Amino acid sequence: AIAHQSNEDLITYRKKHLGKSLSLQYETPIKMVRGNGPYLIDQYGRRYLDTVNNVAHVGHEHPRVVKAGQSQMALINTNSRYLHGNINILAQELLETLPEALSVVHFVNSGSEANELAIRMAKAVTGEQDIIASEVGYHGNTNSCIDISAYKFNGKGGNGTPEHTHIFPLPDTFRGKYRGKNTGPLYAREVQQQITKIQKKGRGVSAFIVEPIISCGGQIELPTGFLKEAYQHIRNAGGLCISDEVQTGCGRMGKTFWGFQLHHVVPDIVTIGKPLGNGHPLAAVVCTQKVADEFANGMEYFNTFGGNPVSCAIGTEVLRVVKEEGLQRNALEVGEYLKSELEKLAIRYPIMGNIRGQGLFLGVEMVDKKMEPLAAQTDYLANRMKDHGILMSIDGPDHNVLKIKPPLVFAKENANELLFYLERILGEDFMDVSVQKNI
Ligand code: PMP
Repeated sequence: AIAHQSNEDLITYRKKHLGKSLSLQYETPIKMVRGNGPYLIDQYGRRYLDTVNNVAHVGHEHPRVVKAGQSQMALINTNSRYLHGNINILAQELLETLPEALSVVHFVNSGSEANELAIRMAKAVTGEQDIIASEVGYHGNTNSCIDISAYKFNGKGGNGTPEHTHIFPLPDTFRGKYRGKNTGPLYAREVQQQITKIQKKGRGVSAFIVEPIISCGGQIELPTGFLKEAYQHIRNAGGLCISDEVQTGCGRMGKTFWGFQLHHVVPDIVTIGKPLGNGHPLAAVVCTQKVADEFANGMEYFNTFGGNPVSCAIGTEVLRVVKEEGLQRNALEVGEYLKSELEKLAIRYPIMGNIRGQGLFLGVEMVDKKMEPLAAQTDYLANRMKDHGILMSIDGPDHNVLKIKPPLVFAKENANELLFYLERILGEDFMDVSVQKNI
């Protein structure tokens, strides 16, 4: 009967009986009923271009991925204490994309679970509790993940920085603590300062975790040299380096398959989520032999669903589609085209203060002449784009960064569609709007 309920009925029921700490997208929520490539389709058959969903990595409901899941589901799905070929095949094909030093995989079901396990590993291996993470970082919804997510503990309902968490400033070269070129070493020095602070308390560093492009921070690209120096400092202090690739992984960066590869470093632990299952709950933690050996200290790590044959069939198909459809190359080509066209548009519309990102993981930061954030105007743009059938998201500590992170099948024509409407809306008279809508 629920399927025949009106949208109002669905909303009323949700408000009363579903978890309340989750807001709906848009003032008038949309009911999506189908997905197809870079598009979502609502109950009225209206098609929306999706520039938000970096989970539907190879496209919404990709036929090969759907078939892989359906076929395996009809055969067997059980836990990974039994032998099955699928888990080995996915492990092997995943490891082929990573540097040789990263050679052991643990399969889990979400990005949060992946980071939770990475934190446990770091604590078990180093015997230390203290973790260094970025300002405005987000790493997941579990207790340990929230404890290292400044985006949450310093946001609404948060309780501030926990005792064992140490935050370095958002390495934002546009409006951050240090601006412009050659700021990588300055931000790395901030990481060293956190290490020193931990050591002065008579403790040691367990781990350093950061995304290669800080998504909730507003698509913040790490400045050149930062990661290499920060990793060096952490390793000198005996800590492990974790790269959170939940958003950036699997070819999205265009130039490289993984975000950390842009910075010529090799982490000790990599966490992988969203894209790997194309919407199916599948995530992974990949680490070095040394970390894996030291984590296996006698306490078993069992995960009921992690690495099941259905999830692994799906993950393997996703990796194969990325490869066979040339989606990393598409991310590079379409991403660079879109970025350069946005830069051209920014010359005419200087409120587009900074265009940044890699591949199909871009951000447009909206500011006024004094570099003050334009949150209301960013909100206006995203809502008007939705009116024209284009879904966009907003992030950053000041809610003034338009994010573009579509399925990797996003074609040049899709980029042109986005540019066409963005230009049209930028021409509207909206500088005096105030924030009204929750997009
Ligand atoms: N890490 C990052 C960088 C994320 O963006 C997210 C989710 N937005 C997570 C971890 C948590 O992943 P999940 O929601 O799958 O638990």
